[in-house]
Amino acid sequence: MGTFPLPSNFRGAPASDISGCVDLHMHSMYSDGENTPEYLVDWARNLGLQAISLTDHDTTAGFERASKRGQKVGVEVVPGVEISVKLSGGTFHLLAYYYDPSDTSFEATLRDIADKRETRNRKICESLAAHGMPMDYDEVLSEAGEAVVGRPHIAAIMERKGYVQSRQEAFDKWISNDGPCYFEKDTFGPQEALAFVREHGAVPVIAHPIWLNRGGLDKTEEYLKQLKEWGLMGLEAVYPDQDEVWTEGLKDISKRLDLIVTGGSDYHGFKVRPNTTLGHGEGGGFHVPSSVLNSLKQARQRAQA
Ligand code: AMP
Ligand code: FE
Ligand code: FE
Ligand code: ZN
Repeated sequence: MGTFPLPSNFRGAPASDISGCVDLHMHSMYSDGENTPEYLVDWARNLGLQAISLTDHDTTAGFERASKRGQKVGVEVVPGVEISVKLSGGTFHLLAYYYDPSDTSFEATLRDIADKRETRNRKICESLAAHGMPMDYDEVLSEAGEAVVGRPHIAAIMERKGYVQSRQEAFDKWISNDGPCYFEKDTFGPQEALAFVREHGAVPVIAHPIWLNRGGLDKTEEYLKQLKEWGLMGLEAVYPDQDEVWTEGLKDISKRLDLIVTGGSDYHGFKVRPNTTLGHGEGGGFHVPSSVLNSLKQARQRAQA
């Protein structure tokens, strides 16, 4: 089934046996990941993972390919998507699991959001031009290929044109959330997003709660309590970019608020998140136990009851 090489300068997790585990958060080239859905499924199979979910940003386009391959090689593929939610001063990411892949209105609404992204991406490019960095939007589009167009593609063009030395510098100087050329996406607000996911019988889970940037676990819990009232069902407490204090703290919150716990690596490829790899995340010992899939399936029953 091929080999799945890590880059020679990889500094992430050491290889460890994660067979029987799951990984419920990853990206393909349908958003800002590097790999095809089939590659991800084959790799998961190679690692012995029981199940995965392909959670591209704002699109379900990769599901069919992943699911087909999963059936062929024996990896369960859970329908998933990572929805961008607008918040004053930034965005947060909401995972939605077990939407109905045959429900065309779900994907249609996501596509409408993607169109709004285009308006915003063009604004970012116009602002870069006004700052002396003319951008050709067609180049941004071709950089993205089939992917949902976003800032990583804009950053790639800025690097290629020599406006910055690296993609990271593009973010740091110009297009990060507090950068001078940043514009917010016109997308769902939190309440609207949760209602949308619940109306479609899917299970909403806060992706990487540490990046809600509420400043500490107490403030995060307060905010999650509000989101729970609006229909939130879970927390991605098992996530590589955090220490044990956060992981355990989030698990405690999930018990207090009656939310399920999910987990995933958020693997994108080695350009976007260089030291994060499928199933292992970043940092020794990371893995997502299959028990989270069982709770997710129970939540699905409640969501569709
Ligand atoms: P967009 O959906 O267009 O807002 O782009 C979001 C993506 O840009 C994220 O998924 C990251 O891959 C990347 N990104 C956002 N902020 C930063 C940052 N400060 N440094 C590096 N990459 C970033
Ligand atoms: Fe991403
Ligand atoms: Fe995310
Ligand atoms: Zn993600």
